[in-house]
Amino acid sequence: MPDNDKKKNKKELKKDIQDNTDLTDEYMEKINESFYNMLKNPTNKEIEKHRLERDALISLWLGFLFEDFKNQLYASAQMGINEADRQLSKKGITKKVNDITKETYEGQVQARLNSDIEDIILTSQNIKINSENFIKELKTNPINYEFDKYKKISSELSADLIKRGITYYKDRANRQWNISKYIEMKTLTEKMGAQRLSFFTRAIQYGVDLVRIVHLNINPTCELCAPFEDKILSITGNTKGYLSLQDAQMYGLFHPRCDHVPEQLELAPTDKGNDGKIELNEANKKRKEYNEKRKEYDITTDKRINNISSPKNYKEYKKFGSFYNRGNELAQIIIKEKERNDDAVKYARKLFDENTLRAYYNIGELPEEAVNLLNSETNELKFSIDNLLKNIINHKDLDVNDYKKIFEIIKNPSKTRKSKKQNSKDVILFSNKNKQYYMLVVKTTANKKENFIKSFRKMGEEEYNGY
Ligand SMILES: [Zn+2]
Repeated sequence: MPDNDKKKNKKELKKDIQDNTDLTDEYMEKINESFYNMLKNPTNKEIEKHRLERDALISLWLGFLFEDFKNQLYASAQMGINEADRQLSKKGITKKVNDITKETYEGQVQARLNSDIEDIILTSQNIKINSENFIKELKTNPINYEFDKYKKISSELSADLIKRGITYYKDRANRQWNISKYIEMKTLTEKMGAQRLSFFTRAIQYGVDLVRIVHLNINPTCELCAPFEDKILSITGNTKGYLSLQDAQMYGLFHPRCDHVPEQLELAPTDKGNDGKIELNEANKKRKEYNEKRKEYDITTDKRINNISSPKNYKEYKKFGSFYNRGNELAQIIIKEKERNDDAVKYARKLFDENTLRAYYNIGELPEEAVNLLNSETNELKFSIDNLLKNIINHKDLDVNDYKKIFEIIKNPSKTRKSKKQNSKDVILFSNKNKQYYMLVVKTTANKKENFIKSFRKMGEEEYNGY
């Protein structure tokens, strides 16, 4: 379909939806409608039409949604600042003790927004995937389909489809979630998070570290929250005798779908008594175990508070499996969208933000020979999501088991060489174990304080011997 037609189609759709109140719901309804229309008469022409409508609707929806999301997050952050200011001035706390700028607050909202956008883009991909899966199912039957056969597929589909359409996604536990509901919940959670984060950051700015979790009178209280009711926490974890906010969150404070939202927080509480003493229950302990398992996917409020003084602190993955899965997940999105490799890498940098791409895994220690050749000040070797993604896109013949061999290669390379490329300071570690040849290219940063994997690939025996 020519680009002009696409533009025209998009414009009409946009006009069509503009008057609606609940945007996400309306978009999802339109996407499902387009799918059902195609299902009634699944000729190639109708399938193409559906694809076009579907993709245009998804991109329009995301455009609207991100704008809306951004405004809501900024408004919530401002509410957090206002509430902190109100409390601080009431208590006569007026002296700023930490140098926290407007950029810090904006950076916090932006970081949150970036990770939300990435999450939502990933989720939105499911609409396409669902639709394409059903199309594939339809197409495995001859296009002059036998009526009975088609009817059967169609009724099987409709039984469970009519209710939810194609606008759902499955989580890691294979549970289905409605995308409208997901967006609704995510918006609420993220707004609360943005509000709290700026509230606590404001407190730090004025040198206030203690906060009382007041909790409105709700009966019965949730099990996870009960131990924190009227208790006092340390925002930074720097006040002795008080549980840190970060630990409290690990134990379930501010958990999703809490009945205590919105909760009440009191800065610089007086009458502290024994309120720093918190008795955790079984639910709290279980929640902590659970949160620890998924920690790598979450950036908690406090980590960002702790990052205030060093904004260039990128996320470190603790498990290679999670690191690889994340990189691969992002790479697959790019591969689907872009056929050519050089385009793909540029596209990834446009689609994913700096914090996502610069997250890394600590692979281990380089042998002395490699460190000397690199002229680096450290033997630590990191692998960033950015380079993993690039490598997955450029070397599709590798799988996770190949990548796991990197651990052996840095422990015991068959040989180590400086790159022969002109002006290159890269160093290459090789492996020839069981006649399977690999080359691992590593580099050091300009300040020589960090080493990164640049690329990793298989090679033939001849090429190996040539180095
Ligand atoms: Zn709760």
